[in-house]
Amino acid sequence: MLTGYTIGILGGDARQLEVIRRLSEWDATLILTGFDQLDHGFTGAKQVDFDEVDPGRLDAVILPVPGTNPDGKIDTIFSNQSLSVTKEWLEKTPKHCLIFTGITNKYLTGITDETKRTLIPLFDRNDVAIYNSIPTVEGTIMMAIQHTDFTIHSSKVTVLGLGRVGMSVARVFASLGAKVKVGARKSEDLARISEMGLIPFPMKDIKEHTQDSDIVINTIPAHVVTASVIQTMPTHTLIIDLASKPGGTDFRYAEKRGVKALLAPGLPGIVAPKTAGNILANVVTQIIIEKLGEGSS
Ligand code: NAP
Repeated sequence: MLTGYTIGILGGDARQLEVIRRLSEWDATLILTGFDQLDHGFTGAKQVDFDEVDPGRLDAVILPVPGTNPDGKIDTIFSNQSLSVTKEWLEKTPKHCLIFTGITNKYLTGITDETKRTLIPLFDRNDVAIYNSIPTVEGTIMMAIQHTDFTIHSSKVTVLGLGRVGMSVARVFASLGAKVKVGARKSEDLARISEMGLIPFPMKDIKEHTQDSDIVINTIPAHVVTASVIQTMPTHTLIIDLASKPGGTDFRYAEKRGVKALLAPGLPGIVAPKTAGNILANVVTQIIIEKLGEGSS
């Protein structure tokens, strides 16, 4: 149980509701901020304004999946309040306070390093990223259906990257009957793509392998779908960019050329917030128990 632990939940989307529900079941004391527009309350959880949160009481802080923006600002779906985490605020937390986020950035890593607080970027964990790839793929299928007038079956789909998301996307689109090519830069990944029964290509050859694609799905968080790559694509190609902001696509050039390119962040939170929240809730609970120990009961 998490009896006796106080956890601050700062903003976020519907995924955090599952985290709140689970931590509440585990008997943690929850301080919520950024949830004032939420209709229902949670037993044992108190919604307060951010300036009423006493950081000195917190054993853990849970930030939204995207963490903060480069200035420390936090997204709040259920509030109009503006929340920011600063170095000064973190310094007021107890030294053992754990800081959870989905992903981190230079700012968040910087202030947690400087204050010597333990930052836990949940999506750095393979288990979380792999479980999370399941709702990500379902969201990608939804987008492909919504934004094309042809079936996924028999269409030519090019997936860029064979990481945790790329592998799931490639496998599921192939199982729907698409002709799937996958671009990667490591020879071991090219071998794996071949073993999966898909068509591998080295990323340096991206141009020739996207010039007949119906759908290009990018999972590489680097500028790989450049203007010169888009220039040779058919104009009916749909680009779905799954990589974290700002994505890996030259969106300006795509628009100019009339190629539909969509940056699609946060799909798990959109298509399956309950599942995505459960994935996070499981691991957050497990880590708090591992790092802080069982509570007082
Ligand atoms: P990952 O496991 O780290 O995979 C990233 C892939 O990109 C790897 O294949 C990696 O190849 C490749 N890569 C990285 N930099 C490259 C470069 N400069 N040139 C060529 N290849 C490069 O990451 P992931 O978990 O699959 O996540 C992929 C992206 O999707 C991330 O940005 C993540 O934040 C995002 N994401 C988005 C959603 C959504 O809803 N849109 C959901 C989950 C994740 P190497 O192994 O050779 O480095």
